[in-house]
This record gives sequence, structure tokens and C-alpha cells, in this order.
Amino acid sequence: MISILKILFTIGVIIVVYLGFKYRWRLTDMTRAAARMTGADVRPPGPPRSGPPVVQDLVPCRKCGAYIASGTTCSCEKS
Ligand SMILES: [Zn+2]
Repeated sequence: MISILKILFTIGVIIVVYLGFKYRWRLTDMTRAAARMTGADVRPPGPPRSGPPVVQDLVPCRKCGAYIASGTTCSCEKS
């Protein structure tokens, strides 16, 4: 059964998420504008792109069959 409270809660969650994204966009815009003003080179956020992206081979775990990066231990073996 749908109650008024559930509808209001859903609308509230949507508004909070929207405001969060709006704040984040404004923050990135301000960072870019500040970088432009100071004359620093403007780069998109994230790791610096130098060379090809790092690729790791995945190998199936012998116990559970989950695919893990080669050289690492599966979470099922840690415990
Ligand atoms: Zn495993």
C-alpha cells in the first residue's frame, strides 16, 4: 500500500540526490574557473593519461571460481 509518507520520502530522496549533484557540478565548475584564472592547465579529473591504460589479467579462483587479478589472493582464501 502506497502512503503519502512514502511518496514524500521518495520525493525528498530525489531532491537530496539532485542537490548533491548540483553542488558537485558547481564545485567542478568553480575549480575549472579558478584554474583558468590562475593560468594552470585545465585537465579533466581523474588519473593522468600517459601511455596505454593498465590492464590486468583475471584468473579464476581454484576454490570458488570467482575471477580475480593474477597474483592476488581471493577473498574466499583470506578468511
Ligand atoms: Zn575464491
